[in-house]
Amino acid sequence: MEYGQVRSIQRDPFAREDIIRQTVYAVTPFEQSTFECAWCGAKGKRVMIGRRLFRYGTQPDAINVRNNWSEDVFCGRSCWDSYRH
Ligand SMILES: [Zn+2]
Repeated sequence: MEYGQVRSIQRDPFAREDIIRQTVYAVTPFEQSTFECAWCGAKGKRVMIGRRLFRYGTQPDAINVRNNWSEDVFCGRSCWDSYRH
């Protein structure tokens, strides 16, 4: 897997954290064989280096605290929301 930039997509003031998203690319044929949205099974968009899906997580305000990333990848925010609720 290759990972793109991390973006904050929403602020959660009550939890004091940001909802974050990172692009994940399946680059090798092996990765691509199992690379799909954990909720709807979408294969993601094909781009130059492979196929592209996203992982989501939360980034706490506290210093020296790790981001909490989803273990799975998703095609979009709505699938991630459905999956975790
Ligand atoms: Zn999906």
